[in-house]
Amino acid sequence: MRYIEPHGHMVSRTTDDYQAMVTAGCAAVCEPAFWAGFDRSGVQGFYDYFCQLTDYEPKRAAKFGLPHYCWLCINPKESEDMKLADEVLSIIPEFLARPNVLGIGEIGLNKNTRNELKILERHVDLAAKHGQMILVHTPHLEDKLKGTRLILDVIKGDQRIAPERVIIDHVEEHTAKMVLDTGMWAGMTLYPESKCTPARAIDILENYGSERIWMNSACDWGISVPLAVPRTILEMRKRGWSAERADAVAFGNPRQFMSQNPRFQI
Ligand SMILES: [Zn+2]
Repeated sequence: MRYIEPHGHMVSRTTDDYQAMVTAGCAAVCEPAFWAGFDRSGVQGFYDYFCQLTDYEPKRAAKFGLPHYCWLCINPKESEDMKLADEVLSIIPEFLARPNVLGIGEIGLNKNTRNELKILERHVDLAAKHGQMILVHTPHLEDKLKGTRLILDVIKGDQRIAPERVIIDHVEEHTAKMVLDTGMWAGMTLYPESKCTPARAIDILENYGSERIWMNSACDWGISVPLAVPRTILEMRKRGWSAERADAVAFGNPRQFMSQNPRFQI
């Protein structure tokens, strides 16, 4: 078995997790910038975090033979503070040249507020100006459908952004099709308590096909399972999927999306 973990917050995981992922066949891990579980006190906190994502964490992953890539942004939750958000946006360009950076993310919306929307638009503008790919976080539960619509409208409204270079993550049954219909990619997050279970993710694949869609564990400091992707491959096999068909989703699809950035090499 082989797979790519396209969305893992490894700064919050242990070395045991790295070892287990590599043992299960993980070939690369990609880490979007996110909320740390607490609000940072200023732009310097983000500067240090971006150094961690582009310097320290790839070295830690390399000790396990695992290529590590990342995405940079200020997350939607902290974007409510627009002064802080603008300061963080201003330091991102100096990190974009670092060799493991794949693009801007995970941007998006949390509570679908006006401030969040403005900062989302500024991130999309930053990505367009610097020719960057985009990874998007969609809101939780009752805010997801409206938030996904708002996000798709912002991205479709910017003619400089090629849809196939954007992934909308955390899709569920009611948002997968609307994302795929735009030509963008869709990501399914395998969480034990919310978002998608493995069974629901496989149902979505069987309903909408397995083109332009990936699975991730989004493992972070909350209750999450770093081995959710390989466990879902086992579930696929139990349901009668061939090894090749499972491999195409768990390995082929994230490789195809990320390889649009020539930095992504596995
Ligand atoms: Zn995330």
